[in-house]
Parts: sequence; structure tokens; C-alpha cells
Amino acid sequence: MKLLKYLCLSIAFISLNVVAQEQEPQSGHVNQNKFKQLYDEFSTPNMYRTGSGAPGPAYYQQQADYKMDIEIDDETAVLSGNETITYTNNSPDVLSYLWVQLDQNVRQKDSPSKDINSSRITPAMSASRFSSSYMSERFDGGFNVESVTATNGSDLPHMINQTMMRVELPQPMKTGDQFSFKIKWWYQVNNHVTDGGRSGYELFPDGNRNYVIAQFYPRMAVYNDVEGWQNSQFWGRDEFALPFGNFEVNITVPSDHLLDGTGRLMNRKDVFSSDMMKRYEKAKKSYDEPVIVSTQAEAEVREKGRSKKKNTWKLYAENVRDFGFATSRKYIWDMMAVKIGNKDVMAVSLYSKEGNPLWEQWSTKAVASTLKSYSRMTFDYPYHKAISVHARRQGMEYPMICWNYGRPDENGKYDDRTKYGMMSVIIHEVGHNFFPMIINSDERQWTWMDEGLNTFMQYVAEQDFGEWYPTALSASDDAYPSRRGPAKKITRYMGGNQDRIAPIMTKGLNTYQFGNNAYGKPATALNILRETVMGRELFDYAFKEYANRWMFKHPTPEDFFRTMEDASAFDLDWYWRGWFYSTDWVDVGLKEVKKYYVSSEPNQYAKNYAESRDLNLEDLNWVYLVEEGSEEFNEKLRKGTSADNSPSLKEYMMDNFTEEERKNIKQPKYFYDITFEKPGGLVMPIIVEFTYADGTSKTETYPAQIWRYNDNEVSKAIASEKEIVSIKVDPKLETADIDTSNNSWPKEVKENDFDKFKNKVKG
Ligand SMILES: [Zn+2]
Repeated sequence: MKLLKYLCLSIAFISLNVVAQEQEPQSGHVNQNKFKQLYDEFSTPNMYRTGSGAPGPAYYQQQADYKMDIEIDDETAVLSGNETITYTNNSPDVLSYLWVQLDQNVRQKDSPSKDINSSRITPAMSASRFSSSYMSERFDGGFNVESVTATNGSDLPHMINQTMMRVELPQPMKTGDQFSFKIKWWYQVNNHVTDGGRSGYELFPDGNRNYVIAQFYPRMAVYNDVEGWQNSQFWGRDEFALPFGNFEVNITVPSDHLLDGTGRLMNRKDVFSSDMMKRYEKAKKSYDEPVIVSTQAEAEVREKGRSKKKNTWKLYAENVRDFGFATSRKYIWDMMAVKIGNKDVMAVSLYSKEGNPLWEQWSTKAVASTLKSYSRMTFDYPYHKAISVHARRQGMEYPMICWNYGRPDENGKYDDRTKYGMMSVIIHEVGHNFFPMIINSDERQWTWMDEGLNTFMQYVAEQDFGEWYPTALSASDDAYPSRRGPAKKITRYMGGNQDRIAPIMTKGLNTYQFGNNAYGKPATALNILRETVMGRELFDYAFKEYANRWMFKHPTPEDFFRTMEDASAFDLDWYWRGWFYSTDWVDVGLKEVKKYYVSSEPNQYAKNYAESRDLNLEDLNWVYLVEEGSEEFNEKLRKGTSADNSPSLKEYMMDNFTEEERKNIKQPKYFYDITFEKPGGLVMPIIVEFTYADGTSKTETYPAQIWRYNDNEVSKAIASEKEIVSIKVDPKLETADIDTSNNSWPKEVKENDFDKFKNKVKG
């Protein structure tokens, strides 16, 4: 054993504190210490991004402004558009071409996106699955790019590589240059229920379609100091990276459609009926309950007709990274106002009757509540509205608008799962307005930066929602039953098959167990950091600092990691290293507990020591501690104080303390030598609950740095006036300890918390 060598070398003090355990140095002189700073992993700070995690003095970002005329032909479900992109080069670099994203091309018949997944024969399957797997033609979508031209009408040379289009510039763009060009295109909109996708339409038996439309226009790729052109292909799962810009979008749809989308509706009077206008004015002053601006009865009338006339809805959005919209004859529309800082934001829902009664009850309130929670933790929501659109099996976010699932059955009945699922997805997707729509991280590169941060915030917002709207909870729940966030919800994943676990710092496309890796684990890591490691005050200040530093900018992982340390004086390199860069898990336990009493008789330890140094024990006036149950122990030692049992100690006290001082001095009688083991690779603080014979208890937290010299086991000497009857590590299950069978002394024979948890998960 590694410990022994050290003990033999340095027996110096006769105290329980003697064991400053150290491991032998790692062979090969490679620093494997869990507390090693992250210099090798992190990018070097520079003029664009500083060592503090803030944007540097030379920080820049590109701008892409769009003017678009869009039309949906509802008969053929064809969407066509004509757009002018004005691109501003704020970088110090000269650009000779631009990259434009054609995300719809992932649905081209010959797109390789489906071929990157391996597939096996399933020996038995339903006829419908068999037919869709082996007999149906693949949906043929994708952009039909009709022209790419300069504003003077001349063709611009361009080349399409899967989902990316390179457009050659007539002249290279220098710093500060602006270039405008036009793209004309159309595509066949997909049925997102049958063909999949993050946008498309749902087709109803009567032929009506609810359209939720996004990634519908050629979009500028990001160019920045970290990646150059972020032109990594879209394969379908990994999301997006987009620059900010202003959008002027005119959308033409049948005149019996309603429509809402990113941006301010500029011609409300042209497209709203006078009844809708009146109700809209009322909604702007309604802070407690949503006002229905277009009713279900009206929607049911509209959905029976097929107007041949058209309406153009004009939207204008400033400083957004993307644009989405929803349109249908079937939509019911409600809104309420919510105070954010000193301004009113509209919380809005669009849903067809299939979503009721659930949607009219809870969607808009969930939107309003989410805006309040996120604003409290980051910054005041800067846009004027946030819309939740009901779309079957969708959960997807765009600036100011998102699609959400959660549908009752045909009779309007729903269970808790459907209700909480719907509320949670609304909270999550509305929350994405903050991460990554405003704090504009690169989703394609780092899924956790939007999904992880957002799922952490979703947990905070869900707890708020349950508190602010207790009637939204089921009778059996006294708090919102969040699926992700609490430490104990991630233990199964983290303790699972390590071949199927990748570090959080993995590109989204290459991540196994996407939900756990990109959502659950980072959300839990942040929640543990907030609740257990840093505490809410330090964490919340630093988290808010990150949000404000990178609001309307493009942060990288290091910008987050560095800011969290910079604003808190908390060295967190060990935490990022363990939780974000490794697949290690938490398992801290109790290895051994020894109990000692003070004795008047010199013990063998003292005798050996004195003999080896030729010392006379009588002269030394030592205090002797003997272990309960050892040969030197006798039952009499349980009686009396330490001073009663030790003449040396009694004498020392008489000589050094006044009578008054002796009365008030601590007189510990029970001594414990506690050894903690760490079968898990992650270093974490050790949270220990001591329960005393009188029934009281006390919790101590030893900082994670206790593991810095020995990654396997550490010890603590405890002197106590009261007898300890039990010790428990991580008593509240807040560290994500994957195995709590080693967490108690004496060992618990009854069903422990981990088993309870496991059984609950199984059940
Ligand atoms: Zn998400």
C-alpha cells in the first residue's frame, strides 16, 4: 500500500492529525493532477477574447441583414422566396467569398445525412414501419436555388456543397465593407410529422395544414476569430450558428390564415379584424390572464373555408440571429402582458383546437413565467414578445417564437405526463430565447452551451413556475417535478456504460446519448455548482455576468468557464476538467471509522517512539489515545473526561488555564479517525452528516481540494464532546454520487437511498 511508506518515514507527532496522506508521484512526470490548471485545454487569451472570459478590445462580429418576400402556396405546400442579404465585414480579415447555409438540403433525396447512421434489419416490425423503411420513396425536399445575383442583376458564381453554398465576391471585402446580394429560391415544405424535421407542416384529415416554418431561407454562416467560416455541414441533429442582423420580412399566405413570427407586426390593422384589434388592445393591459384575440369558434369557421385571396403579413425584427413563423387557418391566438423590468412584453400562444383545453389554460402563463425567471437570472428580456406555438411532436426554438408539443386526446383528456411535458417544453423552448438566441453560442460546435445552460435554467424556471402557479401542479406534487437538474437524476447515466458516454466537451453530432450528455449532465453540473460547490450568491452573480458580457455576442466554452471564475474568485478548473472534459463519475464513501479514547497508560505507539529515540516517556507528558476494541482499550476509559483519564492533560490545564477558562474550555471525549474513499474519478467536496447520541446532527463540508494530494482516500481526525452514532456522506444526495452503498457508517442494512432511487427509476 502506498500509505505505509510515508508513515514509516515521518512519524513525527503523536496526534490523530498525523496522517497527511500523499500518493507517490505519477510515473513519467506527466501531471495527472485533477487540480492542474486548464492551460493545455483552453485557447490562449487574445485581443478578441480575454483571459477574464470577457470580449476583448478587438472583439468583432459580422452582421447579416435580410429583406425577404416569402409566399406559401397552401394548395401545393410550396414555399418560395426572394431575399436580399446585406453582409457587413467587421472582421480585420479580407474575405473573397461568403458561405451561406442551405439547411433545407438535408432533406434532398440524395442527401447523405441519413447514411451516416448504421442500420440493422429488425426481424419483426409493424407493416407501416416496414413500408416506410423499405418501400417508400424518400421525401424530396431541399432548396431549388433559382438565382444568386448582385444587386445590379449580374449572376454571382456560387457552388453548393451539401448544405453549404459558397458565393464568390466580385471584389474582396475589406474591414467595414458591405455587400448586398439576392437569392431566389423555392422548396417543397415537408410534413414534419411523417418526414421529420425541425419545421414543416402538420396535415389534418380535412386537408388543413398548420405550418411552423424555419431554416426556410438561405442563411449566412458565422465568420469569427475562433473558427473562420463556421461552415461545418448540417447533418440534421446538430443545430445552428448564425450571425445577428435585422430582418424585414413580408409573408404572403391565404387571407383566411393567421400568422405570427419573429419581429414586430408592422401592418396589424391590415391583417387583423376589428374584433381582433379590440381584444389585442385589451390583452396589452392584461397581466394576470391571457386574452383570447382569435377564438376557437372563429378558428372552426375559418378552417372550413379555402380563401383564394391573399394577405401579406409584414414583420420587422432588429438584432436577431434567425427568423421563424407559424401560419394556419386553425390557429386560436391568445396573449397577455408581462412586466419585465420597466417594460411590457407580450406572452403569446398560437394553437389549434387539438391543443385544448390544455393550451388555453397553461401555454401563455408558462411563457410569461419563463420570461420572468430567465430575466431574473440573466438580463431583462430585450424583445417585445415571446410566442409559443403548438406543433405536434415539436420542441424547437427561434427568436421570439418556438414550437411545442403536448396534445390532449380526441376527447380533450390528458394525463400528468402530457401536461408536464407540455409545460416543460414551453419553458425550455421559450428559455432558448436567452441561450442561444441572444447569448449566441455556436450550437453546431457545442451543443451543451445552449442545451446544457438552457436546461439548467429550465430547472430554475420550472421550480419558479410551480411556486408562482401552484394550480398548474397535480395534487400529489408540492413542487414542479423537474425531469432534469437535480443531482440524483443523472447518476444512472454517469454510472452507466462508459463506452457510450462522451465528455460534455464533444461536438453535438458525435455525442452518444444526446439527451443525457448535452442536456442532463451539463444542467446537473451547473446545478451542483450552484447549490453545493459555489453557493447561490457567488454562482448567480457570475452566471449573470456571463449572460451580460455575451448578450448579443458569440461566446465560446472558455468564455463561460473563465467568466464563472473571474466573477467569483472560485478556482473551478478542477470542476470543468472533471465534469466537462472527462467521463468520470462521482463516488465518495466511508472506508473506515476508528474511535479513540484518552488513556492514562502509555500506548504501544508511544513506547515504540520513545524507545527508538531513546527518550523517557515520563519526561514527555504526552496524552495517549487508544482505539476502542484494541488490546490497549478498557471499558473504564468510557467514563470520565479526557482530563480525568490523562494526568498529563490535567496538569497541563492546571498550569495553563485559569479556573474560569477551564470551566469554559472544550473538553472532547470522543475521537474519530475517519477515512473517506473515492472509487469515482471526479473530485468533489465531501459533505458529511454526523449524528450524535443525543439525537442532534451536524453537517460539515470539506472542500474538493482535500483530494489534491491523494485521489483515492483521505482522512479526517474529529474530536467531539458528544458521541457520534452515525456518519453519512452526501446525506441529501446533492453530489450525483452513483453508489451510496458506501456512504454510511455504521453500514445501513435497510434499503438505502440509492436503492430507493433505483427502485423508483425502475418503477
Ligand atoms: Zn433545447
